[in-house]
Amino acid sequence: EILLKEARICLSNIASLNHRLNALISVRSPESVLTRVSDVASTEPKTGIAGKLFAFKDNFCTVDQPTTCASQMLQGYVSPFEATVMTRLYNHAHAIDVGRANMDEFAMGTDNIFTVYGPTLNPVYSSPHSAGGSSGGSAVAVAAGMCHFALGSDTGGSVRLPAAYCGVVGFKPSYGLVSRHGVIAFAQSLDTVGVFARDVPTVREVLSVISAHDPLDPTSVSTTLRQQLKDATARRRQSGNGKYKIGIPLEFIVDSCSSEITSAWSAVMKKLQAQGHELYSVSLPTIKSALPTYYIISPSEAASNLSRYDGVRYGYRAIVDREANGVLYGVTRSEGFGSEVRRRILLGNYNLSSGAFHNHYLQAQKVRRKMQLDFDRVFVVDHPLENPIDRDDRPAVDFLVTPCSTGTAPLLSDVLSQKSPLDAYINDVLTVPASLAGIPAISVPWHTDNGDVVGIQVMGQYGDDDRVLDFSEIIM
Ligand code: GLN
Repeated sequence: EILLKEARICLSNIASLNHRLNALISVRSPESVLTRVSDVASTEPKTGIAGKLFAFKDNFCTVDQPTTCASQMLQGYVSPFEATVMTRLYNHAHAIDVGRANMDEFAMGTDNIFTVYGPTLNPVYSSPHSAGGSSGGSAVAVAAGMCHFALGSDTGGSVRLPAAYCGVVGFKPSYGLVSRHGVIAFAQSLDTVGVFARDVPTVREVLSVISAHDPLDPTSVSTTLRQQLKDATARRRQSGNGKYKIGIPLEFIVDSCSSEITSAWSAVMKKLQAQGHELYSVSLPTIKSALPTYYIISPSEAASNLSRYDGVRYGYRAIVDREANGVLYGVTRSEGFGSEVRRRILLGNYNLSSGAFHNHYLQAQKVRRKMQLDFDRVFVVDHPLENPIDRDDRPAVDFLVTPCSTGTAPLLSDVLSQKSPLDAYINDVLTVPASLAGIPAISVPWHTDNGDVVGIQVMGQYGDDDRVLDFSEIIM
């Protein structure tokens, strides 16, 4: 009965809000959703999310509907296989999807404006504001009460940023914990599957279903390592007294941060100190290069991944003059991809070209490695896949706490009139470091005294995901 009642509320929110917010680009029929809920309700519940409704970003493959990445290129494309996470949610957890969520094309963007379906609007504001991107539709679906949780993908902040703008929880797990099989690739060394919910316990429930070894994803963490991580978490929880060492990383204090954001950050720190946690200022010098490093590595990987959209095998095909031999690829790609995706492909191919490869791509890989070591040095916990590092006498901490974005959600008109793509890229300065290092990071909503909602980011050592969630509950 409760499940049915909750489902009806979600469905009525979809009916009344989705035409304005544009969060879901396809919606399941209310009758089919309710039938499935009552079927699940009448059987023994298998997991905490059985019979709960969810939305998923349009880059997760399903077999019964087109998966389009909000791109002209993939209109009508139906995948022959299903993403592992979708199979786990449907068959293992008996969760029920309400529809596919809007996104920035191929997950490239920060405001959910680069989409063939039109921008998604932020439900927190009555005037049109950015929902954040690229998983904007998923964040909005949760924030507007259209579902209990949603799936997104986070390559450089695409779950955390929209969560911050929309006032919900958005979690990016450690790289490799959740299978990427059937999630259309943007930048495979950075792509992770993330979860949106209104509270941390729901995020945990979803993770307990989708975080599992998958032989179909070559980067999926093994069952042995999962067990080691679980044991380590249990040991740390047992030996801890609920008080943590918190790091304030100096390099995250950036000029572009608005005053709302910096005062929310200090309010959170005061609360934590009052609760008896120890605060330390820490330094990770390579963070200063995180943004250029990300914007070299991710477009390079994207250029390679997106080369498969050639107008031949699947998806969009331009109509070209038969006489004009060899132009199908170029015309198809010019028409099929939007401006931001084309820009990234050009940038990526340039970085991989013989002239730039050594100075750009290889240098970026070196900086990335140094950044991972910087993170290892500030965490008390050793990286489970690396040799223990030599520590100096600088303080080491359990978690890093920073803002998730440099400002609150911008006006849609402002982002639509941005002159340079860099205006959007700089918003990623606080989220890309955790992506480059592959570590768990979460955005939790913090309500300020003057009624704004701000996302606070918590980062922890690779594999320390469960304790990052423990700690996030303290902040909320
Ligand atoms: N905003 C970043 C970008 O445009 C992050 C995208 C993402 O995480 N998918 O690349």
